[in-house]
Order: sequence, then structure tokens, then C-alpha cells
Amino acid sequence: MHRKLVLFDIDGTLVKVGSVNRRVLADALIEVYGTEGSTGRHDFSGKMDGAIIYEVLGNAGLERHEIAEKFDRAKDVYVELFRERARPSDITLLEGVRELLDELSKRSEILLGLLTGNFEASGRHKLKLPAIDHYFPFGAFADDAFERTDLPRIALERARRMTGTNFSPTDIVIIGDTEHDIRCARVLDARCIAVATGNFSMEELAAHKPAVLFKNFAATGDVVTEILTTQHS
Ligand SMILES: [Mg+2]
Repeated sequence: MHRKLVLFDIDGTLVKVGSVNRRVLADALIEVYGTEGSTGRHDFSGKMDGAIIYEVLGNAGLERHEIAEKFDRAKDVYVELFRERARPSDITLLEGVRELLDELSKRSEILLGLLTGNFEASGRHKLKLPAIDHYFPFGAFADDAFERTDLPRIALERARRMTGTNFSPTDIVIIGDTEHDIRCARVLDARCIAVATGNFSMEELAAHKPAVLFKNFAATGDVVTEILTTQHS
């Protein structure tokens, strides 16, 4: 029986993705809207893919309704181009991640899931290339909501439907590399484990007060212990 729900962010937490992601988004937007907007210089960290598209095109002067009209097509083109162009060499599996997922997946009390600003198809492709996608039977993605803070409840409901378990806040752990992940944990009053393998330093993340903060996941045993600890932040 599952007693613990552990939700992982993707970029900066499990993997690092090279410049292919930004290039593919720029090309998709140029194909669909005729401009890449501010894609080249935009901060993507912890943001929802859908929101990023609105922001970068808004910066180029496009109105929300103009963006909305072609949004579904832009998403399809982006996902298609990403799957076509991203190579295993574009994805770096972060230190300790495979060992950590191996360890967690052996424990029958743990249900693993994804909580990410990626669209599901491109996000899962980022995990398929280093062969870690199979660890995650479900998730909540950018396809499901526009605001990242809406994702935790969606993930929780999916977990309940899958397993029949009503996970209580003390049984939920959200793991990510940005303040946005920490905020998501707060929405559910869940425990947040932050990791400084993305674009934010230990100091920057500490300012947002995650329950636990790791430099990376190299010390697998310590991370597992913190995940299994039932204690509020
Ligand atoms: Mg991230």
C-alpha cells in the first residue's frame, strides 16, 4: 500500500537540458507566429511551458487573443520538433538521480510522480532519453493548467484515483530546483526538498525556506532518509 507520494520536477532537478530546448521553442514560434518573441533571452526556470509561450510572445507585442488562437498548434509543433531534434547528448542526467530513483522505486510504500511545467510529451521525452521515464507512472504537467500552483491538487487527485489512497499533507514530498517548486509544496502544506542543481544557488533557495536543501543528490541515502521523514516544514 502506498503511504508516501513523492513528486519530482524535471528540469534542473532530474536532468539538465541543453540549448536544444530554447532553439526548438524559437523555431516552433517562428513557424506558427512568425516571431520567436523574447525566447532567446527569457528566464524559463520553474515556469510552465504554456505561460512561457504567452510571455515571450507578449514581449514581442502580440495580444493574448492572437496567441491563444494558434496556441494548440504552437504546442504541437514545439513537441514534435523537440522529439525530432533532442538527442541523448542534449540531456544530462544529474548526479545521483538514477541511484535515487532506483532506491525509491524499490519501496512499495512510495508512489513516484512528476510535477512539472513541461508539456507531458516533451517532458517525458527528456526522461526517455536517459531512460528514467519508466519510474513515473503519472504526473501533472503544463497541459493540465496554466498556473504551476494549480498542479499539486491535480497530481494529488490523479494519485488518489490511481491508488485509492488519500495522501495527507504529511505524506507528500515535492522535490524541485526553484522557488516555484517550493511554492507548490506550500499549496498542499507538503514537505519540500529543494536541490541546487538548477539555476539557483543554495543561498537563493534557502531564502524561500524549503524543509530540506541539498546541493545535489549524490548522497542517495541522505536524500531517501529525508524523503521518508514525516515532519512539517
Ligand atoms: Mg526545474
